Amino acid sequence: MRSRPVSITEMRSETPTQCTIVLDWEPEAQPGQFVMVWLPGVDEVPMGFSSIGPSAAITIQRMGDATEALCALDPGDRVGVRGPLGKGFELLEGKRCLLVGGGNGVAPLVPLAEALVAKGCRVYSAVGARTREELLFIDRLAGIAGLAPEVATDDGSQGHHGFVSNLALRLMDEFRPDVVYTCGPELMMRKVADACWERSIPCQASLERYMKCGIGLCDACACGRYLVCRDGPVLSGEHLRGVPDFGSFKRGPSGVKVPFAAPGGGGSIGIRLRSED
Ligand SMILES: Cc1cc2nc3c(=O)[nH]c(=O)nc-3n(C[C@H](O)[C@H](O)[C@H](O)COP(=O)(O)OP(=O)(O)OC[C@H]3O[C@@H](n4cnc5c(N)ncnc54)[C@H](O)[C@@H]3O)c2cc1C
Repeated sequence: MRSRPVSITEMRSETPTQCTIVLDWEPEAQPGQFVMVWLPGVDEVPMGFSSIGPSAAITIQRMGDATEALCALDPGDRVGVRGPLGKGFELLEGKRCLLVGGGNGVAPLVPLAEALVAKGCRVYSAVGARTREELLFIDRLAGIAGLAPEVATDDGSQGHHGFVSNLALRLMDEFRPDVVYTCGPELMMRKVADACWERSIPCQASLERYMKCGIGLCDACACGRYLVCRDGPVLSGEHLRGVPDFGSFKRGPSGVKVPFAAPGGGGSIGIRLRSED
């Protein structure tokens, strides 16, 4: 599958560390699918959709070379796109849904919320960030669901003081959702999935792994027996339950397994095998 050029129609600054690129592109995408975005001379990186429709959009967390370069683009500039790729969220009808997003993981939950509301679902959401300035798409989610998201910040500057996974546990017991959808740091999603398993609530989690081909050829994104680009990025709790890597290890660019760092960057689960990423 070849990359094709699309023009940028709008650049938005969402928070001090996140920007949105609106594209002159109407892909036939499902919420949770992703696209490989190519910036010639820099890199080609996977990005989820934060808007689907006549003007697809991606929302980017500045991390390193590619994401900094993407956020520095201007309307009229072009990027290469390959996709939509992978499997998105499974949409259910008329259910009580809890969406749990951490950091930039909130972005793909926005088109998901739109699709669920269109299917007659009641949508509750829990949104987390390190600090209040980095809370993403609170107003958009409130507008779509007709209900303000519950908020958690690591530093306590807004809402629940602590991780959004802890807030999600309380909301599971309060709202009794039929299904939980989650996207964000994997340790957070693992905690959410554990709570769902304990309560027999079906869940779906959108995983991030290092991706090269994006189409199931190179194995870079292997997670247990799944290729995250082909079988995911959204995997059901049922599938993830048998995957020891979920919440424990990802793979770096060379394929070496790297444990997930604990929040705050201090410790990690196990010993860091190699500091390659
Ligand atoms: C399915 C999927 C959807 C994603 N959606 C978004 C999104 O909507 N918004 C967003 O900001 N980020 C998203 N990411 C993560 C994003 O791809 C990385 O943050 C980005 O590639 C970092 O590149 P960099 O050069 O800026 O940073 P680097 O300094 O190169 O890397 C920073 C971190 O990003 C990871 N990373 C680098 N290259 C890749 C790659 N090719 N594939 C996966 N991870 C990589 C590294 O392992 C490292 O942990 C998604 C990742 C996946 C797998």
